[in-house]
Formats: sequence, structure tokens, C-alpha cells
Amino acid sequence: PPAIFTEADFYQRSFDPQAYLKEYYSLSDSQRGANLFLMQNLRSLHKMFSLDGLRGDTLIDVGCGPTIYQLLSACEHFHEIIALDYTDQNRWELERWLRNEEGAFDWVPVVKYVCELEGDREKWAEKQEKVRKKVKQVLKCDVTKANPTGPVSLPPADCILSTLCLEGACKDLPTFHCALRNIGTLVKPGGHLVLVTVLGETYYAFNNQVFSCLRLEKHEVEVAVEAAGFEVTFSEAQAYTASDERTDCQGVLGLVARRCPS
Ligand code: SAH
Repeated sequence: PPAIFTEADFYQRSFDPQAYLKEYYSLSDSQRGANLFLMQNLRSLHKMFSLDGLRGDTLIDVGCGPTIYQLLSACEHFHEIIALDYTDQNRWELERWLRNEEGAFDWVPVVKYVCELEGDREKWAEKQEKVRKKVKQVLKCDVTKANPTGPVSLPPADCILSTLCLEGACKDLPTFHCALRNIGTLVKPGGHLVLVTVLGETYYAFNNQVFSCLRLEKHEVEVAVEAAGFEVTFSEAQAYTASDERTDCQGVLGLVARRCPS
């Protein structure tokens, strides 16, 4: 692990979105077995967004990075999506794909896999268009700020989603608690939080850069979510047992919670 915790400014300076996508989100047919981590997370998102009540007008994706895989199941249940991330280059990379620009990452194999989970692999082009249409804004945010999108204030959404962000953005457990409270303000009372978090991880690497990660256990995440004013309605950890020199990740937690009425 890095000697110091790599916080937001390190992401801004050193996170290369294209290298990240290539390293963690490639899914060619020949290589399918090699991307267990991604496939496991896609199945977990599929399962969570199939749960009762996970629908509404608006969804906010917090710490979206340059990726869209996390929106593929979600987009079927919400009319509008707003994506938020700290770093400029990640928001630009995402926008490049949304505008279908030359050189944007090829998500087709991933989109096809999710369509297969939903029962019809042939719907991939339709789903891809759905994501492109539904993402209405891509904005800067900082989960460590009381108003994560400040100075902009967004109307609270029906659902917030966050995948693999908070554990990278928070240097310790109190900061993680605080970040959950901060992003909790982005969702309406009675609305949902969908969280995908790695467990037992202290670092992940790509492109000769190492990023630190807050080492979390399942119950620590659940306690933090509840302390932020949510009721946990679904929580499922899956072990990550593949030998992988890029990370010391031990598992992934998929969690759904409902913001308590205020
Ligand atoms: N959600 C994507 C990206 C995860 S990488 C995925 O599932 O693959 C972690 C992301 O967290 C990066 O895009 C980084 O820019 C973002 N991030 C780091 N610190 C942050 C902060 N303080 N506020 C908001 N986003 C932050």
C-alpha cells in the first residue's frame, strides 16, 4: 500500500481514466474468465436493482469515475441520471462516451453481458442508447464536503448509487461515516442508497500507480450507513478469491438502504 493515503488531489493528478478502463473494464469474449471482479459486480447490481421499490424519477451516481457499467441495470428503473465525480479527466472520459465520440471506451461487451443477465442479449444497442439519453448531467463533486456538489445544489434524488468510490476517497472510518452523511443529503427521505464497496482492501493498482483504500469490513459499512440515517434492507458480501496482483481486495459488498423519513 502507498505510504500516505491517496486522497482526491492525488486522483486529480494521477488517475488515468483510459488506463483504468483498460485494466479493469475490458471484457472481450476470450477474456471473460479473466474479469471475474467486473462480472461479479454486474450480477450484484442486477440483483439489487431488481429489488422492489428501486425505481423513481431521478438517480444520482456518486464517484462515477469514467465508467457506465454501474448504470446498466439502474437505467431501466429511473428516468434521469446525474453522474458526479471529483476529477476532471474522469468526467471528460465519461462525457466522451456519452457523446459517442471517437476513441471513447468500448462498453459493448459489458452492455451485452448485462442484457444477457436481463434475459435478452440482443437488446444491447437499445440499452446503450438508453444510458446515453438518460444521463442528463455530469458534475463535479467532493464526498468529503457537507454539500458534495457545492456551490451547486441538486434537488434530492429518488436513489443514490455509489460504486468503489467512498473507500478510495476516505482515509479513515470517521471520514467514511462523514462521507455517507454528506452523500445522504443527495437523496430524498424514503429514497434509496445502492452501494458497492470492496472489503478488506488496502490498495489497488494500474498503470504503475498505486491507490490506497480504506480497509472495510461488512459490519463497519452497515453501521456507517445506519449512522447516516438509513435503514439497511439488503446486504450481501461476496468473497473475491481470485489471485490478483493488482489489489489485495478480499470481497465485495452490495448493499441497499432506505433513507429514514426525517
Ligand atoms: N465508480 C467507478 C470509479 C471508481 S474509482 C467504478 O465503479 O469503477 C474511484 C473514483 O472516486 C474516481 O473516479 C475518483 O475520481 C473518485 N473520487 C476520489 N475521491 C473523491 C472525492 N473526494 N469525491 C468524489 N469522488 C472522488
